[in-house]
Amino acid sequence: MEFKESILIKLVVMLQCLTLVLCASQDFDFFYFVQQWPGSYCDTQQSCCYPTSGKPDADFGIHGLWPNYNDGSYPSNCDSSNPFQQSQVSNLISTMQKEWPTLACPSGNGIQFWSHEWDKHGTCSESLLNQHDYFEAALNLKQKANLLQALTSAGKSQCHVYNMEILRYKSRWGFYSLSSIKNAISDSIGFTPFIECNSDSSGNSQLYQVYLCVDTDASSFIDCPVFPHGKCSSNIEFSSF
Ligand code: AMP
Ligand code: AMP
Repeated sequence: MEFKESILIKLVVMLQCLTLVLCASQDFDFFYFVQQWPGSYCDTQQSCCYPTSGKPDADFGIHGLWPNYNDGSYPSNCDSSNPFQQSQVSNLISTMQKEWPTLACPSGNGIQFWSHEWDKHGTCSESLLNQHDYFEAALNLKQKANLLQALTSAGKSQCHVYNMEILRYKSRWGFYSLSSIKNAISDSIGFTPFIECNSDSSGNSQLYQVYLCVDTDASSFIDCPVFPHGKCSSNIEFSSF
């Protein structure tokens, strides 16, 4: 009898452990890592406000690292009991100001934008990445995927297979075919991006955000299991900033 009881207790304990492991495992399929061209956030009808720290660099900024499902849907606002805390990322703040600039109005120091990103998206991967590791992972991914370099070096390379047609006035601003932009990024990063466009105040379709897919460790780029919806014109503007 006692023997049976002890087996039963062991079984219950094992079951509890298994539940814990399963609950702690990830509950999404991959991340979208989304970078944004600030010129295209700012030249819309809505316009923008520079952060209190000053005008951001003329470089892509991070928008977010978003847990997604393979069917194209995504979880959001997964844990209201774990709000963004600046103290968790204090050693990352200066890098975040540079690489993840807020452009919303009125001008802010970024905390609102990062809080929004953590609360809406970051909490949905909290079983794998705590606040510090989530923001650090995004910063590391930006270092691995230098979009500006991918686009400017493709633009400058005369013999590039997909030659980015023109470099007007020796600058990168101008119109490019969507395929030349996609190919320049694929060639440099090794994975096909999704390009999101928006419209400038004159209605031109322009390069707004670049989506890359990332494994659930938030460390390696992968082929996208699914692309978002949306359409760019076949020729799109790379706006100035
Ligand atoms: P999300 O909710 O993460 O899908 O992001 C969309 C929200 O982020 C919208 O409210 C945008 O206005 C806002 N947003 C996008 N880019 C920026 C930015 N650079 N600074 C501040 N807010 C932004
Ligand atoms: P389409 O030009 O719409 O016929 O698309 C041709 C291919 O490019 C398809 O595999 C699409 O999924 C892909 N595609 C279309 N638009 C984009 C985009 N903006 N970014 C990345 N891939 C795209």
